[in-house]
Amino acid sequence: MPLSLPTTFAFSQSSLQAYANCPRRFWLAYVEQLHWPALETKPFDAYEEQMRLGSRFHQAVRRAETGFDPQLLADTLDYPLDEWFAAYTRHRPDDLPSQFVASEQVLSIPFGNENGRYRLAARYDLIAAERDEENARAVIIDWKTTSRPTRRSRLQEQLQTVVYPFVLVEASESLPWGPLLPEQVEMRYWFTAAPDEPVIFRYSADLHAANRTRLQGLLAEMLAGSVQADFPKVPDTEQSRQHLCAYCVYRSRCDRGIDAGDLAQVDDADFFVVDLESSLEFTLDDVEAMAF
Ligand code: SF4
Repeated sequence: MPLSLPTTFAFSQSSLQAYANCPRRFWLAYVEQLHWPALETKPFDAYEEQMRLGSRFHQAVRRAETGFDPQLLADTLDYPLDEWFAAYTRHRPDDLPSQFVASEQVLSIPFGNENGRYRLAARYDLIAAERDEENARAVIIDWKTTSRPTRRSRLQEQLQTVVYPFVLVEASESLPWGPLLPEQVEMRYWFTAAPDEPVIFRYSADLHAANRTRLQGLLAEMLAGSVQADFPKVPDTEQSRQHLCAYCVYRSRCDRGIDAGDLAQVDDADFFVVDLESSLEFTLDDVEAMAF
């Protein structure tokens, strides 16, 4: 029996990361789409405020990237958004291509095997690209508003660092800047907490081949399962309880504790929120609009 996923489902770095961290989490959040009444972290109001500020920062930057006057935008922001936005205007990388600038762009590519046909989608904060007769270049930027920057080694492990350049290279042929070689792509994480120290990952043909193998392997594992028992819980260790289960709404259902993890202890790379309201992170319109 094939794995049954909603028709509007597109794989993403979030759902793949959920599976990589804990197959049961993927099952509960994306297959069952199970609502479970628990806090993701505590104190919850501080967490909600952090989410709200992050969303407003991304909105202000998106407007600035699409031509709004940064000074007028800055005048509408209060603390700490005013400081974050000032950091963005001072430290926006000055070597970004300017020929094509796409904000909040969703791209998706075919992603499947004999057990199922899906799409792999990514929503990019910013893609800056250029092409002339001899060369092409594209830089992916992800704006991060966490209270401290994530270590490079942790970012390197994350599926976002795999999925974003992979999808961009695979989708590039149908995009305004045309086909990109992996060597022409780089990914940068930019932090409000360290705006002059972005973490940069250059891409390559070897990485692209390795990423294809990794992604196809994950997909094959997922599509080989069809019932909950095929999606086991992460091993019950002190480490997984502290870093995964404590920040997962399903912990009481999984008998992995009751208390939510402390927001102050969160290392961004460990923190995964199953947002059930948007577990189908891409609408059918998003996916179909970008299909090619
Ligand atoms: S509580 Fe732990 S075991 Fe259960 S789904 Fe979440 S991460 Fe997995």
